[in-house]
Amino acid sequence: MVSRARSARGGKERSRQASCLTQLVRAQVLAMQAYPVPSAAGLLKLDAMESPAPFSAELKQQWLTRLGEVEINRYPDPQCKSVKRALRAAFKIPAAHAIVLGNGSDELLQMLALLVGGPGRVMLAPTPTFSMYPCISAITASQFVGVPLRADFSLDGEALLAAIRQHQPACVLLAYPNNPSGNCFDEAVIEQILASAPGLVVLDEAYFAFCRRSFLAHLAQFPDLLVLRTLSKSGLAGLRLGMLLCHPDWAAQLEKVRLPYNINSLTQCSVQFYLEHYRAMQRQAEYIVAQRQAVFARLTDQPGLRAYPSEANFILLKLERDAEQVHARLQQHGVLIKNLHRAATPLENCLRVTIGSEAENNRFLQALRRSLQ
Ligand SMILES: *Cc1c(COP(=O)(O)O)cnc(C)c1O
Repeated sequence: MVSRARSARGGKERSRQASCLTQLVRAQVLAMQAYPVPSAAGLLKLDAMESPAPFSAELKQQWLTRLGEVEINRYPDPQCKSVKRALRAAFKIPAAHAIVLGNGSDELLQMLALLVGGPGRVMLAPTPTFSMYPCISAITASQFVGVPLRADFSLDGEALLAAIRQHQPACVLLAYPNNPSGNCFDEAVIEQILASAPGLVVLDEAYFAFCRRSFLAHLAQFPDLLVLRTLSKSGLAGLRLGMLLCHPDWAAQLEKVRLPYNINSLTQCSVQFYLEHYRAMQRQAEYIVAQRQAVFARLTDQPGLRAYPSEANFILLKLERDAEQVHARLQQHGVLIKNLHRAATPLENCLRVTIGSEAENNRFLQALRRSLQ
């Protein structure tokens, strides 16, 4: 470092020393792109499955009072005991199952990959699916195997079971409902996977609040099943809290991989506050589900596109024309949704819209009509 700094100060024709970056960073990571988050400045943000509703003014005041009581000079409770108690009660999690908490469920997926992934280990998922699965596989030096879904995004059970036999994955990842397609995979096929997979099976129930279907009850029967949930899609995206429900033996191993204070004091305090108002949050989710049905009906009447039925808080659209152009026009009309278009894939000309408030959804539908003209 010292000699580099000196030569930098010296003569005009200082040549730059070659960096070791391309030797040290694994090719798998060099080939990746950091997770892109487009700016939503000035736009109606319907691209990231966030809840449209912040706390009411009254709740916000109570919440701020509670946050004021947090001793920010102290480390947080590393075991998150009170938070786990509150989560157990709200989500009716039997005492036999352990809870591991993460800074978002993304972090829990990373902890899982650190625990059972690595060179020579396979993470397998039906595709297209949540973009973080291949991403987390790559950063943990695991191999990602994607098994194509059918054209209607349903699970190809035969292909999936054959791929599991062939690749012997350390971990099978199933988003339930799937992102970005919005459908829940066939329960009987998932049960076959649970019965035959040689490794872990993760049921990622990120959209549980809008679907209410769960594999939680299967935990008692399948010790290598893990159920993943998050509070991000139902009002707390900014807080980052994910939870993994699993056999205590798996939790004990995951606790070794977890950084000790990954859930900060403000998050712990806020989640407890949120869960005291869980009924109101559930009503908010019911409102989103009703809005989803209304938006879906209107999209079905809209010529020039196909809307896929969804059990989540978003809807996947396939356009009969250039989706990138429509996506850009929507932005000109002030609405940001997610562009999923990839030529020559099942997501060709696909866009994904998050369900917002009634007024937001109407703005989106109007902007879409104009963008398709
Ligand atoms: C959004 C999403 C997550 C990530 O949630 P965080 O808790 O915010 O990290 C996980 N899985 C799926 C399928 C998602 O769509």
